[in-house]
Amino acid sequence: MNITHITSAENSCIGCGVCVSTCPTHHLQIEKNEYNQLSIVEQDNKCLEKCSICLNVCPFSNQSMNEDTWSNKLFHKSDQQYHNEIGYYINCYVGFHPIEQRRLNSASGGLVSYLLESLLEKKIVDTVLVVGNKEKEPFFSYQLCHKSENVYNYSRSAYTIINITQALDLIIKNDSIQNVAIVALPCVSKALRNATKHNQKLKTKIKYIIGLVCGQQKSNNFIDYLALKNGISNLSKITFRVKKRGRTNGDFGVEMINSKGEKKEITFSDYAKEWSFKLFTVPACNFCDDIFAETADIVFMDAWLPEYRLSEKGENLIITRNQELDEIISNIKTIKPIKVNRIVESQSTVINNKKKGSWTAITLSNKELKYTPLKRTNRLIKPNFAERYLYKIKYNISMNADKLWIESGRNNNYFYTKMKRIYGYKIFWGLLLNKLGIIIKKIKNEK
Ligand SMILES: Cc1cc2nc3c(=O)[nH]c(=O)nc-3n(C[C@H](O)[C@H](O)[C@H](O)COP(=O)(O)OP(=O)(O)OC[C@H]3O[C@@H](n4cnc5c(N)ncnc54)[C@H](O)[C@@H]3O)c2cc1C
Ligand code: SF4
Ligand code: SF4
Ligand code: SF4
Repeated sequence: MNITHITSAENSCIGCGVCVSTCPTHHLQIEKNEYNQLSIVEQDNKCLEKCSICLNVCPFSNQSMNEDTWSNKLFHKSDQQYHNEIGYYINCYVGFHPIEQRRLNSASGGLVSYLLESLLEKKIVDTVLVVGNKEKEPFFSYQLCHKSENVYNYSRSAYTIINITQALDLIIKNDSIQNVAIVALPCVSKALRNATKHNQKLKTKIKYIIGLVCGQQKSNNFIDYLALKNGISNLSKITFRVKKRGRTNGDFGVEMINSKGEKKEITFSDYAKEWSFKLFTVPACNFCDDIFAETADIVFMDAWLPEYRLSEKGENLIITRNQELDEIISNIKTIKPIKVNRIVESQSTVINNKKKGSWTAITLSNKELKYTPLKRTNRLIKPNFAERYLYKIKYNISMNADKLWIESGRNNNYFYTKMKRIYGYKIFWGLLLNKLGIIIKKIKNEK
C-alpha cells in the first residue's frame, strides 16, 4: 500500500508534494484532476516491497508522526515553556520591520522577510525557500533564493496550494546547497519534519523551518473565480495583501493584472463571505488541527488584536522555539515582548474554527465511510447543535465548490445560482440558529 491508496484531492491530500521528493523510486507525482484540484498519483506500479515512506511522510496519513510527537522530540528542553494551544515556545513578540517601505510591502509586519534576509546576510544559511509569483496557473511556486537583497521579491502571501517538489529536489541534488531555511504552513512543516526521517540530505540541509499560522488554504479555482468575478480574463499576476493608506489591516487589497497589463484591485471585504464559508477551501484543510505550526522553529502571524486593527501598515506576532532565531528577533528595535495569552487571543477565531470544524469534518467523513485522517482528537472541540449545522454547511461547500465551478463551465452567474440554490437557505437557517444560540446563552448567563 502507498499514499495514493488513501489520500485523494477530494478528501485529504493538500498537494504539498513532500512525499514525491522522498519516494525512493520516484514514481509519485502531483497531478491536476478533472476539477483542477492537485492530487497525488502514482505513475506505475513500481513500489518497493515493504516501503512505506510516503505513508510516514504525509501530514494526513494516520501512520505519520503527529505534531505532539515531533514537538516533544524537537523542543522539549529546559529553555522552552509549553502552552496547550500554541505548543512549545521560548518567547512571544509583537513588532514590525524597522524599514517602513519593507513593512508596507509585506503580508503583515514584514518580519519573516527580515529574518530570512538576516539569515542569508550572516551566512547562517545559504538558501531560503520562499514563495514567488508566476505568470500562469499555478500563480505561485516555491523558489530558491540565495541572496539577501532578493528576499523582498518574495514577500506577502500566497493563498493557493503550492507543490514544493521541484524546490526540494534541487536542494537534495545540489551539493553547493548546505543550509536551508524553509517558509512553511503548519501541514508542510510537519511533512518536512517527517521527510527528514527518510532522506538524509533533507535531514542535514534543512536548518530552520519558519512557520506561518494558517487558517485555511484555497484551491487554484479560487483565483480563477476571483479574477472572472471581477472581470479579469487571462489573468497573468495576482498579488494578495496589498496595503493602502486608510484601510484597516484586515481589509488588505488583492491586485489582479491581465495579459494586457490591465489592473483591477479589490479588498478582502469583497470576498469575506467566500472566505468564511470555505468556498474553494482545500478539502484537506477541514481536517487540520495545527494552528501555530507546532513543529516549526519560529512562527509568524498577523496581530489580530484590537489595538492593531486600525493600522494599515501591519504588525507581526511571533512565537520563537529556537535560541538562535530568538536572538535575531529580540535584537530588532521595533519589537517588544507580548504575553502568550495575547497570542492565543489574537487567533481565537481560527482556533475555534479549526477545532470545531475538524471535529465536524471527522464525524461527517467517518459517517460517509471515507478515509479520515485521525488528527489529535484531544485538541478538537465538539460544537453545539447550531454550530455543528453551520460547520457542516461549510464542510460541504469546501468539498463541492471545485466540482460545481468546473461543472458550471467557470461561469460566475451559473455557479452563483447553483451555489445559492443548494446552500442559500441552509446558510440562512444556520446563521439564524447560531444567532438564537448566542442569545439563549447570553440570557442564561445573565440569570
Ligand atoms: C495560506 C496562509 C494562511 C494564513 N492564515 C493566517 C491566519 O489565519 N492568521 C494569522 O494571523 N496569520 C495567517 N497567515 C500568516 C500571515 O498572513 C503572514 O504570512 C505572516 O504574519 C508573515 O507576515 P510577514 O509580513 O512577516 O511576511 P513577509 O515578510 O511578507 O514574508 C512572507 C513570506 O512567506 C512566504 N509565503 C507566502 N505565502 C506562502 C505560502 N502559502 N506557503 C509558504 N510560504 C509562503 C513568502 O515567500 C515570504 O517569504 C497565513 C499565511 C498564509 C500564507
Ligand atoms: S511506498 Fe515507497 S516506493 Fe511506494 S510510493 Fe510510497 S515511498 Fe514510493
Ligand atoms: S505528502 Fe502532501 S502531496 Fe503527498 S499525499 Fe500527503 S498531502 Fe498529498
Ligand atoms: S489549514 Fe492546515 S492543512 Fe490547510 S493549508 Fe493550513 S496548515 Fe495546511
